[in-house]
Amino acid sequence: MSGSKRLLEEIQEERAWAVQLLLDAGALAECENHGYLTDELDSAALDDAVAAGMRSSGDSEAKVKRRLQDVLDEYGEECPGCVKNAAD
Ligand SMILES: [Zn+2]
Repeated sequence: MSGSKRLLEEIQEERAWAVQLLLDAGALAECENHGYLTDELDSAALDDAVAAGMRSSGDSEAKVKRRLQDVLDEYGEECPGCVKNAAD
């Protein structure tokens, strides 16, 4: 296995880990109509996800929070499918 492929897999695993923590805590929600993930803008839920991430990874609060925030920042507040329907 090449080094770059291995790195890519690690990034995907890292993302999957972060998304699952954010979903479990309610910081991310999945649109029931379209399946898109949206940022719930819930700082208490993010704190819960960080606490769970610290328990599962053993990393510091600052490190886990940065990892989760990076993933959360990729998602918008509104489902792209719902925004499109509203525009039609
Ligand atoms: Zn939607």
